Amino acid sequence: MKYVLITGGVVSGLGKGVTASSIGVVLQACGLRVTSIKIGFWACFWVLFFSTSNPYLNTDAGTMSPFEHGEVFVLDDGGEVDLDLGNYERFLDVTLTKDNNVTTGKIYQSVLDKERKGDYLGKTVQVVPHITDAIKDRIEAVALIPVDGKEGPADVCVIELGGTVGDIESMPFIEALRQLSFSVGKDNFCLIHVSLIPVLGVVGEQKTKPTQHSVRELRALGLTPHLLACRSAQPLLDNTKMKLSQFCHVEAANILNIHDVPNIWHIPLLLRNQNAHHSILKQLNLLSIATPPDLE
Ligand code: ADP
Repeated sequence: MKYVLITGGVVSGLGKGVTASSIGVVLQACGLRVTSIKIGFWACFWVLFFSTSNPYLNTDAGTMSPFEHGEVFVLDDGGEVDLDLGNYERFLDVTLTKDNNVTTGKIYQSVLDKERKGDYLGKTVQVVPHITDAIKDRIEAVALIPVDGKEGPADVCVIELGGTVGDIESMPFIEALRQLSFSVGKDNFCLIHVSLIPVLGVVGEQKTKPTQHSVRELRALGLTPHLLACRSAQPLLDNTKMKLSQFCHVEAANILNIHDVPNIWHIPLLLRNQNAHHSILKQLNLLSIATPPDLE
């Protein structure tokens, strides 16, 4: 199994969900079968107004107020989940299960249930390794569930990590994903960091510093981004790209720009036009078996 991890930096509500779905579309257009996992953080448009997009202990979205968190998305199996899973289903034409939404609540519940049953044989149960192992095991198991009506597991699993890198609540997930990236090997893991490039009104310049800081934070946690997906109001200038490449240690060809578009269905094309598929397939060592995308 190959994994594409999407993380977010600087602020919430950047468009990680839409980016993850669009990357899935581009990979599907290369002839690959794609599944997806949303990790644990209830994030939607309303969150931008009411709170930060943070990890919640709720097991699923069913008990959360729609006034605070927007609509719940209901899957075919009855799972009440994050709205982003609706994006994945629509973009990728897949039918997800409630297990495709991994939440903090589900992970802790499974570990505590095991502890009550005595499965840890008297050992001290800790965040590391017990919670992190539970996260890794769940991701690896859920990635194998076929979601496109065909038999056998997909080729690529796109994982969206909710929240923003540096949130205290997401630390066990970051650590588990760091361990996962190491255990599956570099040819099977591609990390795409979605970040913000703001423009200060008076200066009128695209600012790279917030992105530099969030990449530094990610690196300090042991994860290195292979691609940057930069959200900005206007397309990135060449000079901005060069700065990002130099200071974030990411090849210029791997810096993607997702500027504001009138309709999110443009985003897969935006990515295809920047050869995002080439960078991802190269990282995943899939260039020889995948065909170039045709999204027309
Ligand atoms: P996150 O997962 O980072 O919280 P979402 O994917 O839920 O963010 O996106 C937040 C909002 O921003 C959604 O309403 C989405 O449609 C919108 N959005 C995302 N990317 C773009 C873009 N490039 N242009 C315009 N709107 C966008």
